[in-house]
Amino acid sequence: MGTARRHAQLLWCAATDRTFERAELKGVEVLAGKCIHCNCMVIVDLDGTRMLRATVEHIVPRTHGGADTLDNLAIACGRCNGAKGIRHDPSPWGDPKLMAMIERLQERKRKRTREPLAGLTLPPLDDAGGDEEPAAAEEPKKKKRGRR
Ligand SMILES: [Zn+2]
Repeated sequence: MGTARRHAQLLWCAATDRTFERAELKGVEVLAGKCIHCNCMVIVDLDGTRMLRATVEHIVPRTHGGADTLDNLAIACGRCNGAKGIRHDPSPWGDPKLMAMIERLQERKRKRTREPLAGLTLPPLDDAGGDEEPAAAEEPKKKKRGRR
């Protein structure tokens, strides 16, 4: 996944998510909003140089055929979307927890969706794909038991 494309996805998600507002961080214009999972603050830089904690979350995971389209994308913080976070993609399709998670995220996404924020210059959002890495390449992480 190219960085520019990832950034375009983040910007579009933020622009169409009503929890995101324009803000200024150290003199840089940013969009500040909330993680789709935990509601902690995430920041998307307008110029794409820094994306504090913001990662692209696929509501229907790509391992299950989820598309790179705006309606399937949301912004999650790095903690939630990281290896130790709320990973729902390794579960098999039909798994009740997975289906409930997708439904919850879709509902949240519906509630948050708005017209793109006015006055933003949004890069083209290319849904065509093409430069994708294989979706199933990642091995499910083994769970570590905490020991004291
Ligand atoms: Zn989060």
